Amino acid sequence: MNANDDATVRQILRRSHELDHGDFAIGIEVQPYKLVGVLAEIDGRVVARSRRDLTDMKPGEVVKHAAELAGQLAAVRLGRGFPRSRLCLGVQVGGPVDPDTGTVLHLVNAPDDRGKDRPPPYEWVDFPLGPQLAAAFGCATALENDAHAFAAYEQRLGVGDACATFAVVLIRDGVGAGVVVRRQRLSVPMEFGHFQVWPRGRDCDCGMRGCIESQLGNRALTAVVKERTGRELDGLEAAIALADGGTAQAPEAIAAFRKAGVSLARGIATLLTTFGPSRIVIYAAEDLITGGPGRRAANAFLRALRNVPEHTFQTSRNCHIVTKPLDAVRGAQGAALIALQNCFGVQLQPR
Ligand SMILES: [Zn+2]
Repeated sequence: MNANDDATVRQILRRSHELDHGDFAIGIEVQPYKLVGVLAEIDGRVVARSRRDLTDMKPGEVVKHAAELAGQLAAVRLGRGFPRSRLCLGVQVGGPVDPDTGTVLHLVNAPDDRGKDRPPPYEWVDFPLGPQLAAAFGCATALENDAHAFAAYEQRLGVGDACATFAVVLIRDGVGAGVVVRRQRLSVPMEFGHFQVWPRGRDCDCGMRGCIESQLGNRALTAVVKERTGRELDGLEAAIALADGGTAQAPEAIAAFRKAGVSLARGIATLLTTFGPSRIVIYAAEDLITGGPGRRAANAFLRALRNVPEHTFQTSRNCHIVTKPLDAVRGAQGAALIALQNCFGVQLQPR
């Protein structure tokens, strides 16, 4: 037997041992009209992934499709008879949740999403997603907010190996944050997007004025650039293209990105003075956080963002800001890690 055969046999034996003894987690990220799922091993490594588009965001439909997606992931990799007792399921959504009861407190698509050719509106209030998924799929289930899932990912597989206290900011349609303090993820609702950073600022969807989310987030940025330039824009990409282009409206569009950066810097200043993190990891669309020649929107945003020290108390300024582009599976992987922690007691210590 040569060395290659030997390695193959060892791999097969390991696989068979894992199937006999290992525990696994499925992570599902619920996005507007889309589910992303992964199957992860006990150390958080992703071994299978899948996604599914949805035509309906009614809670019952999402439960049905999420349970089917989880079933497929388990069946393909582990076999249909794999015991549910050795599986756990983590699910995360872009809104406030009560992780203790597995309840989604509020999940809504944005007013701007309701225009022509957009999918129909939806609004969930106090929906017990965790218990319903547990009943539909038949294994222990954990529910968290999306920014917390990204914080769990960073804790286990990201900056957690270099620092004990850090925060994660997630910029999608809205803006969220999760915090890890002395290696403990704070599983508390943190409405970071609704920190008020402009006392007499623009109206926010939440009913207040001047929140971070009144200026930042794919939705608000697009709306602000529209207001400043009078141009019809289809989304963040179009707003960035307008700022980067050479038209007469470009300076107004660039100003919107600058103000979004200042808004985030002010919010981060509050995180710094409250928790003293040594890193802030910002997840956002690649176009928003990739600066360089001609990338005026991203340059204006990043320059304003990196000016955090101007907004914070001097002893809390020793903090690195790291930006990372959103990818396809990290959010679902974070949900799987939270399930491993909550359902199987796995510690999310760095590798
Ligand atoms: Zn608000």
